Amino acid sequence: MDYQKLAERLLPESYPPLAYYEEKYPPRAIAKGAEVTRLAPSPTGFIHLGNLFVAIANERIAHLSGGVMYLRIEDTDEKRRVDGAVEAVKSALRYFSIRFDEGAEIGGDNTYAPWYQRQRADIYRAFVKDLIARGKAYPCFCTEEELSSLRDRQTQEKKITGYYGEYARCRNLTEDEIYKNLDAGKPFVIRLRSEGNPERKITFHDEIKGDITVTENDQDVVILKSDKIPTYHFAHAIDDHFMRTTLVIRGEEWLASLPIHLELFSVLGFPLPRYGHNCSLMKQDGETRRKLSKRKDPELSLEFYRQEGYFPRAVRVYMLTLLNSNFEEWYRKNPEKQLEEFPFSVKKMGRSGALFDLDKLNDISKNELSSLSAEEMFGFLKEWADEYGSEEQKQYFSDRDYLLKILTLVMGIGGKKRRKDIMTARQSMDLISYFFGVSERSDEYRVDDKTKRDILIAFLETYDEKDDSQAWFSKVKEVAAKLGFAAEMRDYKENPSAYKGSVSDIAEVLRIAVTGRANSPDLWTVMQIMGANETKKRIREAVETK
Ligand code: GLU
Repeated sequence: MDYQKLAERLLPESYPPLAYYEEKYPPRAIAKGAEVTRLAPSPTGFIHLGNLFVAIANERIAHLSGGVMYLRIEDTDEKRRVDGAVEAVKSALRYFSIRFDEGAEIGGDNTYAPWYQRQRADIYRAFVKDLIARGKAYPCFCTEEELSSLRDRQTQEKKITGYYGEYARCRNLTEDEIYKNLDAGKPFVIRLRSEGNPERKITFHDEIKGDITVTENDQDVVILKSDKIPTYHFAHAIDDHFMRTTLVIRGEEWLASLPIHLELFSVLGFPLPRYGHNCSLMKQDGETRRKLSKRKDPELSLEFYRQEGYFPRAVRVYMLTLLNSNFEEWYRKNPEKQLEEFPFSVKKMGRSGALFDLDKLNDISKNELSSLSAEEMFGFLKEWADEYGSEEQKQYFSDRDYLLKILTLVMGIGGKKRRKDIMTARQSMDLISYFFGVSERSDEYRVDDKTKRDILIAFLETYDEKDDSQAWFSKVKEVAAKLGFAAEMRDYKENPSAYKGSVSDIAEVLRIAVTGRANSPDLWTVMQIMGANETKKRIREAVETK
């Protein structure tokens, strides 16, 4: 068969000789040992923890080795493409401090662009044309129906499904048959003419899993679809080569396709990049461990962490804990160091399933947030509120000093009682909301309605903003005594029946009136921060409401 002629007929456009691409995308001028890594998501709009997991590993490896990390968008599957997905990928990864040097919408060196696979169609076609001309690829005219009935037959016969060996009907079409089909205008795809033999084993060195044995590929996989767009398998081989990728860390779900990739690199004459297949994130579900699932586990989506307002560094710390077995200890010993200083290493990456535990992340988050200054907390909360907060919450940031005072008090910043139970921005915002208004008050008053009002009115009569905390408390005690409550807890405990209650009941009524809640930080400080006008207004409101 005249393969050259066939190649011209199937892809009539002329392309530069292949050497042109080798020159256009030359090996990178990087130091020995510097790694070129990448993240290559499909723009489906769903960016998940698994993406972040490998992104952190790739980013750390590239930057610690003095290399390059780039972002490539694998958009060959038009059906799965979602508008705005690239922006979503970028903003999600930026939030977690993944720094790309080059790539889609990144700027940086554009020698290896374009970064969207659809914009690289010509390069792929040039190589497909060459494979056809060398007899290494062929047109397949099988329809969807034919392929699906083939699959059914194979399933019935308990054979491996797919297009291979004796089942690869179009592999053996004669020249006549091919041209007849083409003349009849039948649509076609281009398939690899696999030379593999599944009886043969290949030992492959995986950077994470060590030596693994796989069988050779014998599937005549589609490399160019009928719209002349390549499949992922083919496109990624071309791209990893011409973007001069040295190390691919990706999810272990790609291990199954590895034999295909090995054959593609070989038939294309490209040296193989090194691969590390990273273990999947697992979840304990009752007795069993399973992979995190999009349908069942909201925490799989990166959007979840942003909506809840997880502190990005906490998520990063947890991911590093799962990625490198010695990270946790290093972090404990070096609390002052930047995460970037951790000597991340592929060798320390786990070979099998990493157990993802939201409780553990929550603990890390509590710990991380409890180390922020008021200014840092302000910045973190503002960033969250700008994107996810309600209109009302956005207003919290209009008076900087006011909010800083609130945060200092509520979080116990700088004090002995630093709060260590706060996990997210959302939770923090709820915790401070009463400073900006009370829409509802707890009805957990321990006294009856009339007593409640008597307490509030008595307090209002004596309240003076200028009182220090001691003077203020003496006045609360006076109110207690005046209304038949024990001013000293000691007295009450000794003889409870002699009183209506104790000074703690008075404080509680005041607390609910002012904050709406039965729990709050030191009430004198709360009133000081709110100011006399607001404090009095709220107490009056509480007098009037049941
Ligand atoms: N586009 C593939 C994905 O969405 C990337 C696979 C790879 O990293 O080679 O996961």
